[in-house]
Amino acid sequence: MGVPETCYVCATCGVQFAHSSTPPSSCDICEDERQYVGWSGQRWTTLDELRKSHRNEIREDFGLTGAGTKPTFAIGQRALLVQSAGGNVLWDCITVLDDETARALRALGGVKAIAISHPHYYSSMVEWSRCFDAPVYVHASDRRWVMRPDPAIEFWIGERKELWDGMTLVRAGGHFDGGTVMHWPAGAEGTGALLAGDILQVAQDRRWVSFMYSYPNYIPLPAAEIDRIVAAVEPLSFDVIYGAWWDRNVTSDAKGAVRRSAERYKRAIG
Ligand SMILES: [Zn+2]
Ligand SMILES: [Zn+2]
Repeated sequence: MGVPETCYVCATCGVQFAHSSTPPSSCDICEDERQYVGWSGQRWTTLDELRKSHRNEIREDFGLTGAGTKPTFAIGQRALLVQSAGGNVLWDCITVLDDETARALRALGGVKAIAISHPHYYSSMVEWSRCFDAPVYVHASDRRWVMRPDPAIEFWIGERKELWDGMTLVRAGGHFDGGTVMHWPAGAEGTGALLAGDILQVAQDRRWVSFMYSYPNYIPLPAAEIDRIVAAVEPLSFDVIYGAWWDRNVTSDAKGAVRRSAERYKRAIG
């Protein structure tokens, strides 16, 4: 008789790890210079524990339905449900998943696929995938950051992956090699929207965006990476950018905001 196995969750980044009988020795994602280990040392929790203290708020965020955990957990992002005739996409992911959340999203048509911008939001993606019987699209360049491997994770390669109804995953890079944004041409009343996670980070004034290698540790990106991100989104039409947190969205002229922001950033770094 061994010790029962659990999928431990890192309390700082919210990423769930593969089954183990004891907590992992460290979190690779938090040890990376783009994140940080909690000030009181590495802490672990589990989904069962989290369900006792946290719930998800499901609400509208500029025309999309979002799910975000209350009280805030780990990085505090919210996931967005893009409802589409061919099936819904869950954009980015959160750690807490409970029956109430599953019921609410099923009532909105469920989840056909999950697409994630970068490793900081891998959260408990395998739980979500099993709950909705949906594949998870993760860029292959970030494969080494997947802490709970699963056959449902589909590593896509290259610069773009077409989903359906015009929705397309675009590799922008920057913050992570496989940093992904999703273009949703039907968004913003048909003028197009970009779901950006923090690959293009919506600034606090919500009229500009920024781009960083690390947000918590304030490590900027070189000019060549900024050019690459701008070039990746330049062919797309979008008036709106959905950022990573509740209401952190650029709600008009978002493409102009990306151009202006890239120029400003490059001036600042010389
Ligand atoms: Zn972590
Ligand atoms: Zn991040």
